[in-house]
Amino acid sequence: MLILGQMVKNYSEGPAVQWTDPNRPSTWKKYKSGMCDGCWAACCTLPVEVSAYDLMRLELITEDEAASSLKKVAKRLMKEGIVQSFHPPRQLFILEQRFGRDCIFLGEDRLCTVYEARPEVCRKFPKIGPRPGHCPVNPRSKGSKKTHEKV
Ligand code: SF4
Ligand code: SF4
Repeated sequence: MLILGQMVKNYSEGPAVQWTDPNRPSTWKKYKSGMCDGCWAACCTLPVEVSAYDLMRLELITEDEAASSLKKVAKRLMKEGIVQSFHPPRQLFILEQRFGRDCIFLGEDRLCTVYEARPEVCRKFPKIGPRPGHCPVNPRSKGSKKTHEKV
């Protein structure tokens, strides 16, 4: 489980920093360009709402399927472990999360494995989201040089 919402020493041996809790937007930090460098990709632990168009871009459904019945699409994708729910009034799906936390498309290196085809909300975050302009930035483990610039 995550150890969140407590005072910890920054991995870069900088001053003590207050970690954010992805589930508590009031703890989030104001987003600044370049912040994704060295971040643990905490935003990819938030539930991700996707449209039929997003699913088509991800090549998970066809245009014909989307046009016929989204309820049927939802049933199949839930069985395949790709989405966890479907909200008919909004015509939106929620992507499945590994261990109830990470997006299923988040790689072991904490980078998006479908970056070019990522959903619209991922492209717009943190301009949109529970606390626009803010995000649950947290440092990744010491030594990693990979970045997660995704906005
Ligand atoms: S947008 Fe996501 S990856 Fe970038 S700093 Fe914020 S939480 Fe980290
Ligand atoms: S699709 Fe990619 S960018 Fe969006 S939450 Fe999942 S891993 Fe993150």
